[in-house]
Order: sequence, then C-alpha cells, then structure tokens
Amino acid sequence: MLKAVFFDIDDTLYDTSGFARLARKAALNVMIDAGLPLASNKAYTLLRQIIKEKGSNYDKHFNVLTREVFGQEKPLLIALGMITYHNVKFALLRPFPKTPSTLINLKKKGYHLGVISNGLTIKQWEKLIRLGLHHFFDEVVTSDEAGVEKPDERIFQLALSRMGCRAGKSVMVGNKFSEDILGAVNVGMSAILVNSELTESEKEYIKKEGIEIEVISNIKDLGAIL
Ligand SMILES: [Mg+2]
Repeated sequence: MLKAVFFDIDDTLYDTSGFARLARKAALNVMIDAGLPLASNKAYTLLRQIIKEKGSNYDKHFNVLTREVFGQEKPLLIALGMITYHNVKFALLRPFPKTPSTLINLKKKGYHLGVISNGLTIKQWEKLIRLGLHHFFDEVVTSDEAGVEKPDERIFQLALSRMGCRAGKSVMVGNKFSEDILGAVNVGMSAILVNSELTESEKEYIKKEGIEIEVISNIKDLGAIL
C-alpha cells in the first residue's frame, strides 16, 4: 500500500515569514530614499497593517501605502517598492537547510510526497520551483484548486484521492495547528507539527479529544519518526 507524506509550504519547507520581513523592509528603505516621508519602523508598521487588512495575496499593498501617506498613489515609489521586494525575496529564497536532504531520505524510504497548501496555484508552484523542490512532489494541491482552505476536510480528501492513498497511510507535516494538524487529523491522517509550539489551549484540546500528534522543531527530525 502506498505511503504518503504531505507537506505545507510556507514556514514548513522554507522560512516564508523571515524572507518576507527582510524583503518588505528593504522595499520600504528604497521607497524612503526616494521620498516616502516615514521612519523605517513606522513604514513597516503601516505596511503590516495594510497586509493584514488586504491579505497577503493582494498585489497592491504599496499602492495603498502611498495613498495613505500622500493622499494619492505615487507610481515611482510603488514600482521601486515592488521591484526591491521581489528582487530581495528571490535573491534570498531558499529552503530550510535540512529540507532537501529530508525529502531525499523520505523518497529513499519509499514515501510518495505531496503538498497541501493554502494559496494561489501558480504562486505556490512558483515558490516550489524557485526553492528547487518541485521535482520531489508527486501531487501539489492548493486551496485555489480545491475551492476550500485547510482545515476543510475536502482539500485533504482531494489530495488523498489524487495521490491514490488512504488517510491511514498518510502523514501531514505543517506549522499551523489549526490548519495543517486539525485538518489532517479530522480526515484520519497522522500529523506532525513543525517549527511551531503548541499553545496551552491547543494542548488541552489535544488531551480532551485524544488526538495523537508529533511535534518537532526541525524538519530533519522527520527522519527519526518516519
Ligand atoms: Mg505554513
């Protein structure tokens, strides 16, 4: 019977939050040099607020920022911000140091590998390709395709049926308890939480519901479990 390991992408295979923070700060510094009249920490706080309001897949965060600061959009500043953001992000983008070797070892052990990710299909594929990881995965399923986001059971069911494996033979690895872990456990998959600590209320919930999950601090620790 086919054994499968499914992965979340962001903050599971690579440090999404860290790279995004560096790229946003660099973009704002270039905009400030070109005339954005804010201190860099103020600009960063404002940008974070806009991203929170509009969502991370909205593509006009810098437009909104200039509108809020100047009362109108500033095309030059917006373009400088966008170019810097993308250049810095792509220059730095790489997997966690142990991600590739861990995936290679799981393949060697006979696991089929997949991705279950909340996000836009092309954008998530673009990340996997830029990270140099796309060849590892037999199936990549996004919320964009599934029409629902993790933790909805249907995205996990879609991934299992595409992979042709049973929930009981599958494991989900992700950094978000409420999305990756609960979603997987609810369809009967095993689950491993990585790069994240359980809160007290999550611990209580796990105990109350009798859920069995593993918690690891580095993706390389998968080798000892799987
Ligand atoms: Mg994640």
